Amino acid sequence: MFGFLRQRRRASFLAANPIDDTQWQTAINLPLFIGLSAEERQRLREHAAWFLHTKTLTPLHGLELDAQARVILAAQAVLPIMNLDFDAYDDWSEVVLYPGQFLTRDRYTDHIGVVHEVEQHLAGQARPEGPVLFSWLDVSQSPWLDGWNVVIHELAHKLDMRNGDANGRPPLHAGMDAAVWKSVFSEAYDHLTRLANHELYSPIDLYAAESPAECFAVFSEYFFETPHALVTHYPRVYEQLKLFYRQDPLQRLPLVRYRPAFEPVEFGPVVLPTAVPGGWA
Ligand SMILES: [Zn+2]
Repeated sequence: MFGFLRQRRRASFLAANPIDDTQWQTAINLPLFIGLSAEERQRLREHAAWFLHTKTLTPLHGLELDAQARVILAAQAVLPIMNLDFDAYDDWSEVVLYPGQFLTRDRYTDHIGVVHEVEQHLAGQARPEGPVLFSWLDVSQSPWLDGWNVVIHELAHKLDMRNGDANGRPPLHAGMDAAVWKSVFSEAYDHLTRLANHELYSPIDLYAAESPAECFAVFSEYFFETPHALVTHYPRVYEQLKLFYRQDPLQRLPLVRYRPAFEPVEFGPVVLPTAVPGGWA
């Protein structure tokens, strides 16, 4: 929890350094934030300002990240912790951004002690005890209500890592039942794994069947972007995520015509911002 002095320091910083009005309006008008109350928008704005103050954003490979782009990233980043303690992201401090997808080379040792090197092209990666890496192109394409959001995905991993390795079981709040969490998520994970093994249609991106950690991160994306799809197919997962994030996006977001991720979505009655914000790739 926040110490009193830290809370006071934060309050005086926020009072003196609000996010620029125009930049904030551009960010908050993105579809991801539809339906937030005035009070929630204000809280999100403060969280975003604090995020930008306490995290180092490091653009690489010639990426120019202007102030508007930083606000768009920060607003998405703090949506999951809008109703959690401010210190939920305190155990890491750096965001590294590439213009597009980036190549990583990681080593791991398998169960018989053989070391492997894996190369991957990624849109994002949350490194244990390290920075979060993002492709800016993917960050800029994330705040649309299509069930795919690399910022929410990687920061769900970071929340998951607060009690050790990412394993789909972040530290739960008092009053939440760890046994219920385990049973709900393992049932959903088993179901997705069966769909993946039989190459069957899935309403949820089958990347969720990669591991329990990916399952939690992918479900988090659906929770914040297409809650109607999640509650229709996995209502018990929705209930657990509602308790965990202390939010109910089902109540604030419109029902979008849903298709699996990576396909365009028609928004029906939702009015989208006409101007493309500056800084988008
Ligand atoms: Zn992941």
